[in-house]
Amino acid sequence: MKYSQDQVHQLMRSTHTLLGHNEFNEKAWMAHLVGVLEFHEYRYYVLHEPLISDSEYDKLYHGLKKLESAFPGQALPNSPTQRVSKDLTDSFDTVRHTVPMLSLDNSYDLGDLQEFDRKLRELAQVQRVEYAVEPKLDGSSIALVYENDKLVRAATRGDGEQGEDVTANVMTISSVPLVAAFSALGIQKVELRGEIVIARKVFAAINAEREVNGEKSLANPRNASAGGLRVKDPREARRRGLDALIYQIGYAVDKTGADLLHTLFTQHSNNMLALAKLGFKVPRDQSKVCMGIEEVHAFIAAWETRREVYEYETDGMVIKANDRQVQDQAGFTAHHPRWAIAYKFKAKQATTTLLEVEFQVGRTGAITPVAKVRPTELAGVTISSISLHNEDIIRQKDLMLGDAVLIERAGDVIPYVVKSMAELRDGTQRPIVFPRQCPACGSHTKRLEGEAALRCDNPTCPAQMEERIIHFVSKDGMDIEGLGRDIVKRFYALGLISGLGDIYSLDLRSIGQLEGWGARSVERLAQGIEESKTRGPERLLYALGIRHVGATTARTLMQAVGHVLDLQNMDMDALTALPDIGPKVAKSIVEFFGNKANTELIAYLGSKGVVLEKQAQSGQSNALQGKKFLFTGTLVKMGRTEAERLVEAHGGAVLGGVSKNLDYLVAGEKAGSKLDKARGIASIRIITEDEFLQMIAAG
Ligand SMILES: [Zn+2]
Repeated sequence: MKYSQDQVHQLMRSTHTLLGHNEFNEKAWMAHLVGVLEFHEYRYYVLHEPLISDSEYDKLYHGLKKLESAFPGQALPNSPTQRVSKDLTDSFDTVRHTVPMLSLDNSYDLGDLQEFDRKLRELAQVQRVEYAVEPKLDGSSIALVYENDKLVRAATRGDGEQGEDVTANVMTISSVPLVAAFSALGIQKVELRGEIVIARKVFAAINAEREVNGEKSLANPRNASAGGLRVKDPREARRRGLDALIYQIGYAVDKTGADLLHTLFTQHSNNMLALAKLGFKVPRDQSKVCMGIEEVHAFIAAWETRREVYEYETDGMVIKANDRQVQDQAGFTAHHPRWAIAYKFKAKQATTTLLEVEFQVGRTGAITPVAKVRPTELAGVTISSISLHNEDIIRQKDLMLGDAVLIERAGDVIPYVVKSMAELRDGTQRPIVFPRQCPACGSHTKRLEGEAALRCDNPTCPAQMEERIIHFVSKDGMDIEGLGRDIVKRFYALGLISGLGDIYSLDLRSIGQLEGWGARSVERLAQGIEESKTRGPERLLYALGIRHVGATTARTLMQAVGHVLDLQNMDMDALTALPDIGPKVAKSIVEFFGNKANTELIAYLGSKGVVLEKQAQSGQSNALQGKKFLFTGTLVKMGRTEAERLVEAHGGAVLGGVSKNLDYLVAGEKAGSKLDKARGIASIRIITEDEFLQMIAAG
């Protein structure tokens, strides 16, 4: 969209030229690098169709960073390095919106829509109104101001008249262009309205990572995006994986100050098209221009059935008169425009009773309260337990045992308790008592300063050990087939595994005697254990479950050393010098490797054949050089992450979706829509997992 076919080819040629250099030391390279990086950010964050691998991107990005530090103060305004300033924000300034950001009136059924349409036709004196219909994204509203092509301000909606200046944080969002060619359209100053959101997938990944780090999970993508916009540290904002979709031009003037919304930009659907061409992310594929309110209603009904598969959460649809003239004739009430309305989907909420709270001990010792509720059907699923995350949330929501509670499940996100209904209390409700002792081992529980979780500090706590083993063998960890959660629990209870080391000295013969275990399942387990030894140091480091060390940190650490045990020699300074490792994470690593029991465990694993050392570039080749891959369906011989790593290790790149740029789609079992889509594009070769492995072997 933003780039023509010719430009794409030219930028890809530049990309390869730049990738061929190891060092950039002349200022002349700066503009090239910025242009190329800007292009790849757009491909990745706006189109979700990257053309290079993450590591290639990183190489160029770091090259630019070094170059810019050699020429201080001369970084270009659209340089991706300018997205994250180091400054913490003490507070957010209040700013007045150029044009008030009004909220929309709500409608709930066809009757409401017909009434809205009738009034609008009357006001505009037309027979039929052309409507633009778009998903109503469930995030935080934002107003972006561009002046002379540059993003100069981003503000939250606030009370509609004034909001908070969150420019530094919004600049970290890669789908927001820092510079856009408005001047080519004759626009000198423009205000865009949009929504800051977090994709469901990204949200799930963030919570998984937070869990690893022993941090609070975020309740839902809406709160997470609102919170992400207002964090004090722009670097933290970047880690929140925020995304921005634009849905309206609020204001646009040329260099004489003349309004353009009544002269040039009079059609909403065309405006969105123009913004997409400038590189903005707009929900165009999900939108439709409809003639008359019946067509609107049909589109909404069809869309509602698809809302669960859309990458962002939505809570309804927005219906706007597409034509500026109709909008002007309709005007505004004190609160709402008369030419637009929101249609709200049915909320996925239910009421139930909070029966009991159980306290579960996780592998880091964090004790999580879990609400047991009267089983209730919610959006097609029966809910009987809901995580309450931590004590603070219970206090904030004023929950008591026996309370009537409102619960909600949005999309595929885990259910949560919205609130208790205190007014329905009849005196039988009891407070929730937090255990002073660990429910598993009886040790005193503690609440560390600055932490939300109550924890059990006993390193030999059986509940923690059990969870640690489950984590160790899990798919992203050592991925031991034949050793799932339930089997670990059984072996642990039987005393067959009481620590991580025991996995590699399991008494397979006595397991063969257990009920339900035959020669074949023992054989499968033995093979699973054997295969896990070659996962490599990065995976091992993650599997060990060191606090605050997730998959990303494990990768960073293993880029710095050759052998897992080399990490013993790194102190706080050495660790915090690594990218994205702060003092909290460093401290946890120093503590872990300072504990002899841990280093002995690692050495023991090594003695059993678990690979602790980085393989010296073996297993790498250029067999897939320049080829673009995508995986779909279930792979049998390896996990998705492992497959993607293989591609990169052999010089290929992994794309985010099916497009003409894709060379190979590797289709596993139960491949679905991606396979269908790829079949429609002649240039894509569809191959099996085995054929993929043969390609690597052949190289
Ligand atoms: Zn305990």
